[in-house]
Amino acid sequence: VNRYWCERAVLPGGVATGVLVEQDGGAITSVVAGVDWPVGAHRLPGLVFPGFANAHSHAFHRALRGRTHADGGTFWTWRDAMYRVAARLDPDRYFRLARLVFAEMAVAGYTCVGEFHYVHHQPDGTPYADPNAMGSALIEAAREAGIRITLLDTGYLVGGLDADGYVGLAPAQIRFGDGDVDHWARRFAALASGCAAPHARIGAAVHSVRAVPDTTLPVFAAVTDGYPVHVHLSEQFAENQACQAFHGRSPTRLLADAGLLRPSTTFVHATYLSDVDITLLGASGAGVCCCPTTEADLADGIGPMGELAHAGAALALGSDQHAVIDPFAEVRGLEYGERLRTGWRGRFTPAQLTRIATENGHRCLGWPDAGRIAAGAVCDLVAVRLDSPNTAGARPDQVVLTATAADVDTVVASGRVVARSGRHTSIPHAGPAMIDVIEELMS
Ligand SMILES: [Zn+2]
Repeated sequence: VNRYWCERAVLPGGVATGVLVEQDGGAITSVVAGVDWPVGAHRLPGLVFPGFANAHSHAFHRALRGRTHADGGTFWTWRDAMYRVAARLDPDRYFRLARLVFAEMAVAGYTCVGEFHYVHHQPDGTPYADPNAMGSALIEAAREAGIRITLLDTGYLVGGLDADGYVGLAPAQIRFGDGDVDHWARRFAALASGCAAPHARIGAAVHSVRAVPDTTLPVFAAVTDGYPVHVHLSEQFAENQACQAFHGRSPTRLLADAGLLRPSTTFVHATYLSDVDITLLGASGAGVCCCPTTEADLADGIGPMGELAHAGAALALGSDQHAVIDPFAEVRGLEYGERLRTGWRGRFTPAQLTRIATENGHRCLGWPDAGRIAAGAVCDLVAVRLDSPNTAGARPDQVVLTATAADVDTVVASGRVVARSGRHTSIPHAGPAMIDVIEELMS
């Protein structure tokens, strides 16, 4: 389809009616508002948003949804359950699971995913014949699901940090590690030079200051110059305590000293920050990716997102462990977290929230050409019904705080219709297939 007509659309200047979007080869060539539905144009109902970016994902965590609520615990006990799933992955299984997870994202309105990928090697740490077999499986899974991917290849060299220093990889973590930073850099270079798929871009990640020693951080910073880099930052207060005890500095300061506070870096979570950390992050032009449904699910806490935005950080959103895959739930989680924390409503305007979930997310994944409905941008269109029982009566300019993924009707990603009437066009029975893969992983 080369012409889409939107009843209403969220354009950079606000909501417009009767919007004709023309595209060629996946890029928008023109946008005209205030026109009647022309013959032959594909009609998109309701309110059409730009594509949502899922800026932080670990696809395999989806297998744990609805399976960890009975036993209580903390982030750290949840992590043990997550490691048991990681141990069961191989390239074929990961492809089959991720294809369905990415299809679920596509139907929910995500047109791009940032996959923070660290399950690199065989369970005993031996590389596969192709050392990037797992990453390639994820790229192929996204292609089949019809969405774009930025594979954030993650360095994970040590098992943790405490007051006495770094500890070695635990048996469950062996397959995440490359031995040392040079081996990681070599594998990353092969991945980056071998990736020619138009739907995929390559980035890097430092798992956290717990998993990459301070002495190797400057090497990471040098090797990844020019790529998007993501880092888990201060998701748990224990990380701050260990870093302060051993390094005498906060994780933010440690990463700043290594040269990683730069506009191409995105800090994920940023839950426990001092005022100094917030100022450092904001002034650097770095991004911050908040994962509200995961942070709530894992009892992480609520980060200072309003202060970070005010200081200059560009916020983005991710569904992280996929307890929920719904871009609107993340939007509400961000704003509701601010309301609960501050006692004020409307800390972010609906327009700001939309930009955070679309344009900012794409930019932090290395797709500055996506996330808005404008000529020259990638043609991603997400049509949300305004006549569902849930959205009925809502003002279009406030629907981003009202809709759920179930209200998404049609999704166009890179110019192609990937979901229609709430179903994936090429993977229509994702639910039963997902049950099979998850039972295989848990058996
Ligand atoms: Zn994460």
